Amino acid sequence: MKDVIEIKLVKFPSLHKCNCCNRVKDIYYKVLIYNAKTEGRYEEIGDYIVGDLDFCKTCGDNFAVAIKAETPPDEKTIKTFKF
Ligand SMILES: [Zn+2]
Repeated sequence: MKDVIEIKLVKFPSLHKCNCCNRVKDIYYKVLIYNAKTEGRYEEIGDYIVGDLDFCKTCGDNFAVAIKAETPPDEKTIKTFKF
């Protein structure tokens, strides 16, 4: 799933309609959808962007969990501990 869908944070959130909840909110995430492998063509998975979606903070956070992104895009690991 992560090969064909990528979720990115927007540096400057803007107010417009979320493609998930259809509410007008600050858009924090841009979801890029890449091409899947097409039979009979030479393109590999992820060579081209075939679509994009705008998600608000809530929808983007939930979507990141749903596609099992390792860490949500707005979270960064500051320090790791070994026990
Ligand atoms: Zn939303």
